Amino acid sequence: MRFVDKEEIKSILDRHGVENGVNLRVVRSTKSLIRVVCDEGCPFVLLAIKDGSNIRFKIKTFRDEHSCVIVYKNRKASTKWLAFQFKEKVQEAPKFKITEMRKEIEREFKVHVSSHKCKRAKRRIMQEMEGSFKDEFGKLETYFSELRISNSVEFQTRFIC
Ligand SMILES: [Zn+2]
Repeated sequence: MRFVDKEEIKSILDRHGVENGVNLRVVRSTKSLIRVVCDEGCPFVLLAIKDGSNIRFKIKTFRDEHSCVIVYKNRKASTKWLAFQFKEKVQEAPKFKITEMRKEIEREFKVHVSSHKCKRAKRRIMQEMEGSFKDEFGKLETYFSELRISNSVEFQTRFIC
């Protein structure tokens, strides 16, 4: 039997919900019990309990089955999650289109997200990139401005040889 903490349960559910395009929700969350269900009539259930002496929750019931239809609107697809999914793509191609982003999310995860949310996710990735590449961009800018100023032999001697 697995032991997990509350945060771990939440992150498992976030991932699980988004990947399957289902609407999981926590119906009870107390100090000693967490109960998660899906849509009405769907057999999915997760019940985790904790007794007084333990600091971690024990998964008591986990029925990982769905009979619900895939839901095309999932509020669990957060900006953070979107940014994580598209980080590499945007880094490789910063002009990666929002419409493409939305299409891909629908195709791969059966999740519908607003273009507003995608824009925020992209901005987030760009900001992160700016942060981590600031130094390199700085160096490149210096390089290019020198390149513009100097088209001379002297320049070629300095940079190419
Ligand atoms: Zn379900």
